[in-house]
Amino acid sequence: MYELGEYLKEITGFDAITLQPGAGAHGELTGMMMVRKYFEKKGEKRTRVLVPDSAHGTNPASITLAGFKVEKINSDEKGQIDLKGLENASNQTVACLMVTNPNTLGIFESRIRRICEIMHSKGALVYLDGANLNAYMGIHRPGDAGFDLMHMNLHKTFSTPHGGGGPGGGPVAVKSWLEPFLPKPVIRHSSHYWLDYDRPDSIGKVLAFSGHFGVFVKAWTYIRMLGPEGLRDASECAVLNANYIRAGLEGIYELPYKGHSLHEVVFSGSNLRQYGIRTLDIAKGLLDYGLHAPTVYFPLIVSEAMLIEPTETESLESLDDFIKAMKEIAEQAKTNPDRLHNAPLKTPVQRLDEALASRKLDVNYEESV
Ligand SMILES: *Cc1c(COP(=O)(O)O)cnc(C)c1O
Repeated sequence: MYELGEYLKEITGFDAITLQPGAGAHGELTGMMMVRKYFEKKGEKRTRVLVPDSAHGTNPASITLAGFKVEKINSDEKGQIDLKGLENASNQTVACLMVTNPNTLGIFESRIRRICEIMHSKGALVYLDGANLNAYMGIHRPGDAGFDLMHMNLHKTFSTPHGGGGPGGGPVAVKSWLEPFLPKPVIRHSSHYWLDYDRPDSIGKVLAFSGHFGVFVKAWTYIRMLGPEGLRDASECAVLNANYIRAGLEGIYELPYKGHSLHEVVFSGSNLRQYGIRTLDIAKGLLDYGLHAPTVYFPLIVSEAMLIEPTETESLESLDDFIKAMKEIAEQAKTNPDRLHNAPLKTPVQRLDEALASRKLDVNYEESV
């Protein structure tokens, strides 16, 4: 655990770390509790936390749970934070800005240093939702860009497949000025390894033991096996794969934000609405190809959104299969839309009433003889 923490600090550019949080959202909450404690300790009353409108839904939830008021900052036409709006909203009552970078559109906030400067000039902190670390390992360190703290999702970037189910790991790395507030115990190493409970300003414990140990073993192994060059290579592959899909599907589906894509690309299925086809139909249609559908209807600022994130592990063949299926589905929307309205047809159960299915859960599958 100590070694994993050291590696993660080096990869992200921070001074101290906790591995305790059990997921990304839990990391956000832990971070926000530390931000609250930091200002309490300084005797400053700051009640507001700013979030861009492209943010993951967990961001406003964690901020609210930590006792702050959430305020939305709009994105500009390029899908990046609107600097004017940010400057207008920033003053001595703002505790923090929570940013995802690259954001949920897969676009890197190119003015991130300026954004951090604006917040710091008002005495506010900047939190990075680092769930998307797989976009820049070995290329960019958020700690060098001016962030004060961040969480990372070990269950997205470091070997556990995205969407592979729990448990997760959401370590939070911080700059030295936030170190006193880390959850306890903190793992230390001098002549031996030990757990440091003597931390009067700590926010306390946020999970049993020191977090989900099995996730740490996988992340540690992944980092050890790849090494510095391998981690950089993984990020470059993740970005290349997303851009390969972008190039393959541009013109077939709409691309609402045209900035450079990093690890993910967001298309819109709105051009198929003229045939009565919605993004949900496209996602269901993919199941008939034996493919896992991408995240749909998120981010919220894109109508009929499809957020496609192939990660570094997909082969050229599987990327080509996906592109081919997506092209065939777009064709089918024109020629046989009802086939898509009824999809999936090849799965054990067909199109479900989603609300009913989640309330009357039935996960049994009886094989017909
Ligand atoms: C996945 C994700 C989260 C939340 O992480 P969980 O582990 O699911 O709680 C937060 N922000 C972004 C950008 C994410 O992709």
